Amino acid sequence: MNKQELEKIKQKALENHVPIIMDDTLEVVDKILTEIKPTRILEIGTAVGYSAMCFSEYLQQGGKIDTIERDTERVAEARINIEKVGVANLINIYEGDAVEILPTLNEKYDMVFIDAAKGKYPFFLREALRMIKPNGVILADNILYKGYVMSDYNKHKQRTAVRNLREYVKEVTENPDIETEILEVGDGLAVSRIKK
Ligand code: SAM
Repeated sequence: MNKQELEKIKQKALENHVPIIMDDTLEVVDKILTEIKPTRILEIGTAVGYSAMCFSEYLQQGGKIDTIERDTERVAEARINIEKVGVANLINIYEGDAVEILPTLNEKYDMVFIDAAKGKYPFFLREALRMIKPNGVILADNILYKGYVMSDYNKHKQRTAVRNLREYVKEVTENPDIETEILEVGDGLAVSRIKK
């Protein structure tokens, strides 16, 4: 992997206000990936490919990442980026809305990283649970959403997103087959280990 190119892509994304994984969140994911030694990873929300490229370092021999992005321009940029960094053979980008693409997938994944439309998190979780391997890990980034999720915040504009993030937290903390930690890294990261 060309790390210099990866760093340039990160800086460009930050300059252009493309929302990419934060450093402290990435540190946590790095530790999880070191532990679980993944072969298959699913990401929902590619943006310009930064997190997928970071995760690809931890793939075992023959492993692959599937990542979904609906913004055409970002998909085009992500494809160029993964070529530049030399990891195009490890990352498969699905272009389109994850709500439509996820039901067409029938793979089993070691890790699912949810990082897209907040209002769709409960749907993404159901799809992730359908495809996660036993002992796999499902991560949901931005789960605390500026603190709105754990407070009594109820303003109109973000109401649907906040309600759906709360529903996600309820499901992963109350489901007896899932063990969840909510970490205060980035904008909040839910780490859910699947017990069976
Ligand atoms: N994971 C990326 C990283 O850390 O480098 C950042 C992803 S960014 C926070 C979220 C992306 O999800 C945006 O590029 C957005 O276009 C995409 N997105 C949002 N809702 C989506 C959906 N329903 N289907 C596919 N992509 C979606």
